[in-house]
Amino acid sequence: MTLANGRPYLAIPGPSVMPDRVLAAMHRAAPNIYEGALYDLVASLWPDLKALAGTKASVAAYIGNGHAIWEAANANLFSRGEKALVLATGQFGLSWANSARAMGIDVEVLDFGKSSPVDMGRVEAALRADKAGAIKAVLTTQVDTASTIRTDIASLRAAMDAAGHDALLAVDCIASMGCDEFRMDDWGVDVTVAASQKGLMTPPGMGFVWFSDKARAATAGADLRTPYWNWTPRADAEEFWQLWNGTAPTHHLYGLREALNMIGEEGLPAVWARHDCLARAVWAAFDCWSVGNPAIGMNVADPAHRGRSVTAARFGAPHATRLREWCEHRAGVTLGIGLGMAPSSDPAYHGFLRVAHMGHVNAHMTLGALAVMEAGLIALDIPHGSGALAAAAGVVAAGA
Ligand SMILES: *Cc1c(COP(=O)(O)O)cnc(C)c1O
Repeated sequence: MTLANGRPYLAIPGPSVMPDRVLAAMHRAAPNIYEGALYDLVASLWPDLKALAGTKASVAAYIGNGHAIWEAANANLFSRGEKALVLATGQFGLSWANSARAMGIDVEVLDFGKSSPVDMGRVEAALRADKAGAIKAVLTTQVDTASTIRTDIASLRAAMDAAGHDALLAVDCIASMGCDEFRMDDWGVDVTVAASQKGLMTPPGMGFVWFSDKARAATAGADLRTPYWNWTPRADAEEFWQLWNGTAPTHHLYGLREALNMIGEEGLPAVWARHDCLARAVWAAFDCWSVGNPAIGMNVADPAHRGRSVTAARFGAPHATRLREWCEHRAGVTLGIGLGMAPSSDPAYHGFLRVAHMGHVNAHMTLGALAVMEAGLIALDIPHGSGALAAAAGVVAAGA
C-alpha cells in the first residue's frame, strides 16, 4: 500500500516549497513591459531586497540560477588573471572555485573538508602570507548546501581585518538568505549573492548580487565584465530594460513581490527564529536516532557550525537511499540526496541524505517529515534509537 496520495512535501534544499500566495500571484496574463503597473511593482522590490540582506548599498538582479549568479559575481569582481581566495566547506564552495577558475581567475582554494568549519587561523595566515596583496577577494558560502556547514561571517571579517589585508569579502547566501541571520553591512561583507528558489520561496530563475561601495570602486575596471553581466547599469538603471539587460522576468517578479510581502509580514527576525527552531527539532530527532547506532548521525558535529535551512546526515549505506525512496513513494515526503559526500557510482553514496527545512516551512511540515522518516526506519528495519519524535516535538513546544 502507499500512503503518499495527498499533498506531497518536497523537503529538498531547493527548489523549496512555493507558497500558494506566490503561485497565485504569478497566475496572470503577461504585463506591458514598457510602462504601467509593473514599473511600480519592480520599484518596490529594491528596498525590500536591500533590507533582506541588511545593506544600504547596491543590488543588481539577474535572470539565472545560482551558477549564473556566481558568474555574475566573478565577472564583476575580477579581471582575467587576478586572484581569488576561496574558502571551501563542501561541494558548493568547490564549485564556485571551479566557476572562477574556468573564467580565467587565479584561484587558491583553502579546503576545510566535508564536515569541518572554516579555520579562521588558516585564513588569517593565508592573507598574511600574501604580502603583495594579490588576493583581490575572498569567496565563501554562508551555508554550504552539500555539507550544511555554516560559516561565521562576522568572525571571517574579523580574521581578514586581523591580517590587515584589504581583500573584498564575497559570500554565497543562496542556501541561507531568508533562513539564517545575515547582516551584510554590519558584518563587513562586500558582495552577497542569492537566488530565488530557496529561502525566497520563488521558482528558480532569478538571482541577486548585492555589492558595497567599496566593491563598486575596487572593481570598476574588471575586464571579465560583459554587457549582460555588468552590475552597474542594472543597479543604477535609468531605463527599465537596463534592470534586466532586456525583457524582465515578469512572472518571477509577481512571485517575488508576494514572497517578500510574506517575509515582511512575519518579520525577518521571526523568519530566522522559525528556521532556527525547526532546525533544532530536526537535530533533536537525529540525536535520538543515533543513540546506540553510530551509522546514523549528522554531518556537522557542532550545532554552532550547522546551517538553519538544511541538515546533511548519514544512515549507513544503503539505508539513506532506501529511506528516501520509502518516504517519497510510501508517504509523500521527498528528502534531498546526499551531495558531494561520495560519487553516485560509489556504494557509499547510498549512505547520505539531506533534510531541508527551508523557506515556506512550519512545525507540522517538519514534524511530519520527521515522523515519516521514523515510520520509514521502522518499516525498513533500520536500527535506530528511540524518542526522536518526542524530542523534536519538545523543541517545537519550547519554541512556539
Ligand atoms: C543551490 C546553491 C547553489 C547553486 O544554485 P543553482 O540554482 O543550482 O545553480 C550555489 N550555492 C549554494 C550555497 C546553493 O545552495
